[in-house]
Amino acid sequence: MYDKNNIFAKIIKKEIPCNLIFEDEKIIFFHDINPQAKIHILGIPKTEVINLSDFIQKCGQEEVYYFFKKIYEIVKKFNLQKTGYRLITNEGTDSNQEVQHFHVHILGGENLGSLN
Ligand code: AMP
Repeated sequence: MYDKNNIFAKIIKKEIPCNLIFEDEKIIFFHDINPQAKIHILGIPKTEVINLSDFIQKCGQEEVYYFFKKIYEIVKKFNLQKTGYRLITNEGTDSNQEVQHFHVHILGGENLGSLN
């Protein structure tokens, strides 16, 4: 069940501020408050979905494509395609997802190390 009072829902409703990068009626991108790399951006669709499974199951192709296309545009805006970047989305208990509104982390701006 989607919690309408999660932090990102509050950012969407402008109840709390964010360090905004891009926003339109469907999506919003902002800097992570606790960056894990030189560049750490969060991208979220405004639709009330909890995680990737929820997003794919509830939203149509057009909305899913629009969101991921914008991720690529943000990657290019920060020139990350030149040196590389990492996308992360957390879902479920094993991932320790903190905020229960679907989001994608875009990390880059420095060498991120390897996952293992
Ligand atoms: P996750 O573990 O994938 O749910 O990650 C949630 C992310 O949201 C973390 O990287 C937090 O630093 C970030 N975060 C939490 N509150 C805010 C906020 N008010 N503005 C920006 N980022 C936030």
